[in-house]
Amino acid sequence: MNLLIRNVRLIDGCGGEPVPSVNVVVENGVISWIGEGSVVPSAHPHYEDINGEDLTLMPGIFDCHEHFAGDGGQNGVLVMNEDTPETLLVKAAGNAQRALMSGQTSARDVGSPYGISVTLARQVATGSIPGPRITAAGQWIQAPTTWPYSMVHTIESAEQMRRVVTDQIAQGVGLIKVGATGVREDGSDYATLGPEIAGLVVELAHGAGLKVAAHCTGFTGAAEAVEAGIDSIEHATQIDERTAKLMAEKGTVAVPTMSTWDYRLNAAVRWGLSKEELDISEARRDASKASFKRMLAAGVKIAAGTDAGGSPVRHGTVVRELEVMIDAGLGVMQAIESATRTAAEITGVLDRAGTVEVGKLADLILIDGDPLSDIAALRNVWAVFQGGRRIR
Ligand SMILES: [Zn+2]
Repeated sequence: MNLLIRNVRLIDGCGGEPVPSVNVVVENGVISWIGEGSVVPSAHPHYEDINGEDLTLMPGIFDCHEHFAGDGGQNGVLVMNEDTPETLLVKAAGNAQRALMSGQTSARDVGSPYGISVTLARQVATGSIPGPRITAAGQWIQAPTTWPYSMVHTIESAEQMRRVVTDQIAQGVGLIKVGATGVREDGSDYATLGPEIAGLVVELAHGAGLKVAAHCTGFTGAAEAVEAGIDSIEHATQIDERTAKLMAEKGTVAVPTMSTWDYRLNAAVRWGLSKEELDISEARRDASKASFKRMLAAGVKIAAGTDAGGSPVRHGTVVRELEVMIDAGLGVMQAIESATRTAAEITGVLDRAGTVEVGKLADLILIDGDPLSDIAALRNVWAVFQGGRRIR
């Protein structure tokens, strides 16, 4: 758990310019010293000593929107809905390992069938299985609507919501996930929770030191969630100017999950999608990009999340999400922050992770190349450290 990384280019995740030549010392799994240029602390004969020349050191990457129980793929969500809890837990362990090996040292799991992600998170934390540090919602909670899957717990009153949230807190969830948007048969959207229940969730979760994430694919559900003080808007495909401004004012974080439509559109030919299916995906892309631009213009905080497992997207593919967000107007350094510092903030672990600073956990990646000149370099992961332990 003790190491010295010499002469490395540092992108610390705080948004500043990269520093060309840095030496970093890790002791007992924590970053204990950072110095520039030729200053190297006196020799530590038993430390792992890494030549960082021409490599880039960064905080380990976060994915803020995953469902580890699902493998992704065209029918992944349906399969997840039919698997037994035991099968789901084993698959989730495999997906967690895949994510970790890609350079992803932290994650939010925003909804799992039977709440198995809480067990997954705990087993990773105890060291039983390898994986990113997982902050897990159990089942996601929502009012009756069109989403029938086993990962959903349906409530019909404020009293039921109070009971479910209280139970989940007692079970040790890391965040509360709610659905805030429903879609009517004519395609129009509506807010499913209502201000009373949305406010109650925020009050209960914040009272327990947890954040609330809301699935929002409609204008009205998103507006209501932001007004109620929900911490992150997931998907954020329909955000109008007024809601974007309110998000910026209140510090609400958006997790745009653009990978979902990007994956579908890229797979359209091999899946043989019909004209109608393609139209739906293209409309989602256009709405998502337009909302994203409104949020960028308003100065909304953006965190990277793929919806891996809850969509066809595979685990360990955050870099694609960054590429799509950059293509839609996000700056490259902002994209890196969206998967590091801002991600750690919305995950509630910024005091421990998300940046390369003295006192933080040594969750680090070494990249062969410069992600600022080409974000795709983030796929060239040369080393992964978690708590100072070399994983790859
Ligand atoms: Zn999802």
